[in-house]
Amino acid sequence: MEKSNGQSGIVFNIQHYCIHDGPGIRTNVFLKGCPINCLWCQNPESNQIQPQIMYEISKCVGCGACVSACEQNAITLENGHVKTNRSLCNGCGKCADACLNESRNLMGKTYTVEKVIEEVLQDRLFYGTSGGGVTLTGGEVLYQYAFTKNILKECKKLGLHTAIETCGYSKWEIMSQVLEHTDLVLYDIKHMIPENHLLCTGVSNDLILSNLKKASTDIKKDIIIRVPVIPNYNDSKENFHKLGSFIVENVPTCIEVNLLPYHAMGEGKRDQLEESRSNFRSHSPSQEAMEDYLSIIRSYGITPAK
Ligand code: SF4
Ligand code: SF4
Repeated sequence: MEKSNGQSGIVFNIQHYCIHDGPGIRTNVFLKGCPINCLWCQNPESNQIQPQIMYEISKCVGCGACVSACEQNAITLENGHVKTNRSLCNGCGKCADACLNESRNLMGKTYTVEKVIEEVLQDRLFYGTSGGGVTLTGGEVLYQYAFTKNILKECKKLGLHTAIETCGYSKWEIMSQVLEHTDLVLYDIKHMIPENHLLCTGVSNDLILSNLKKASTDIKKDIIIRVPVIPNYNDSKENFHKLGSFIVENVPTCIEVNLLPYHAMGEGKRDQLEESRSNFRSHSPSQEAMEDYLSIIRSYGITPAK
């Protein structure tokens, strides 16, 4: 699964002053690459490990500068807009550099561990005053596990609080190495019913639930469980009841459950990536429906938070 040498990896964003992904004010580092394929992915630019071009058609004036800049002849101008032959694109980013309208953007750059730490340390003052730290997310952080582990290790040497967000789809030997340097796990659960999980993500949830149990019972990590709530896909009451009982029986270190209502951010991004799954459309669940789901979770004696 590992595609980097551990000392460098592919990062597509570093966000400062984040407040939703662990305690206090945090720096979120977004890594590329993911082994599963959620229909509703909110960060589809993270799915492949290779750098990818996003094309925002509304900003394009059809000047053709990107066409001239592309040495792979991957871009053609058609009716005032451009088309990219992604099988020819090598992710060099020259078209993005040439585009003065920011219509083309390259998602993903090589970072060394040192470079990530340098960025993270810009926010150190805020960590101290807010109880914050560093959160690695993606993508799936275990996809570039050696890189992830080395960033976390350096953070711990510096005394920083560390969190990872994971979908949990990884060999346990890999996850357990990474968790050695992790204070808090934000663990995503997409569906509790294996066959529905397979339909929505391309993989069964057996490994994911088994790793969740081990992370809690074997190495006793603090865990926040996160569930994206996607109407008509994973919002049946049965699903939330199964989640509640699984947590009670298998995740004693679960400190919180977050139910995250679907939002359409990923739809526009899939269009910009010119992806075949770009026809996935959904809507946010109603406030009343969210209250119902939260009350099911509460009925198991678990503290949910939105
Ligand atoms: S990233 Fe490079 S290869 Fe791909 S379209 Fe742009 S210039 Fe061409
Ligand atoms: S350089 Fe930018 S604005 Fe010009 S054609 Fe290419 S994408 Fe459009």
